[in-house]
Amino acid sequence: MLEYQAAKDLLKGKTILVTGAGDGIGRAAALAYAEHGATVILLGKTVSKLESVYDEIEQAGYPTPAIVPLDLKGATEQHYIDMAETIEQQFGHLDGLLHNASLLGVLGPFEHISIDSVKEVMQVNLIAEIIMTKALLPVLKKAPLASLIFTSSSVGRQGRAFWGEYAISKFATEGMMQSIAHEYQGTNLRANSINPGATRTKMRANAYPAENPQTLKTPEELMPTYLYLMGDDSKDITGQQLNAQ
Ligand code: NAP
Repeated sequence: MLEYQAAKDLLKGKTILVTGAGDGIGRAAALAYAEHGATVILLGKTVSKLESVYDEIEQAGYPTPAIVPLDLKGATEQHYIDMAETIEQQFGHLDGLLHNASLLGVLGPFEHISIDSVKEVMQVNLIAEIIMTKALLPVLKKAPLASLIFTSSSVGRQGRAFWGEYAISKFATEGMMQSIAHEYQGTNLRANSINPGATRTKMRANAYPAENPQTLKTPEELMPTYLYLMGDDSKDITGQQLNAQ
């Protein structure tokens, strides 16, 4: 997928929501989508990071984005319902949703797994995604063509020792993607997942502190896959598990 070349105006006129848009892969995706013409709704926890992405988009002369400060850990269903209503009022519909924000949790033997940490990881990586998707489906269905992208991982496709809580959240994410893709087959809405692969971000550095980050792909290098799945070139692709590398 690294070789896909997106047309400059691939996402012109589209409104796209990116979660975890302030850092790492989400930040790169927000910038890439804006560069290709989209109005991006930047959702994340740390407002200063979202503001910095906002400023970068404005300075580049891309469509003015919107900021939604939201901590996925504490957000209630009403927060997502209110957000969906605001999106509908401002934009009429939503063309794309990139579920990207996630927590790594604690790596370690299953016997020592912390239930508090499991609950936190499931809340951010899974439950928040379920509630947000449920709230946004009505506005996605109003788009001419809508793309729902979930972020998986190698360990969301094959379990790995010491990665239990994170791996379980990513397997569940793949299950959600497949269920929605099947349910909406033949409609305007498609759902797929991306495994970014090892990428130079804070999450990766936390998981592999001894690794030299310079050996890893940058988030920007993964963008061909993120653009392909968000743009209409992938309109007939649904229920697929893609690898960005
Ligand atoms: P990252 O650098 O840690 O960024 C994660 C983003 O999620 C940040 O913007 C963070 O916001 C946001 N976030 C975390 N908790 C949140 C919460 N409670 N509410 C709202 N936003 C929250 O991670 P990344 O490496 O870019 O990862 C992006 C996605 O790729 C994740 O789904 C990850 O599982 C997946 N992935 C990454 C790799 C890799 O090698 N990097 C490999 C496979 C899969 P704040 O900065 O404000 O906390």
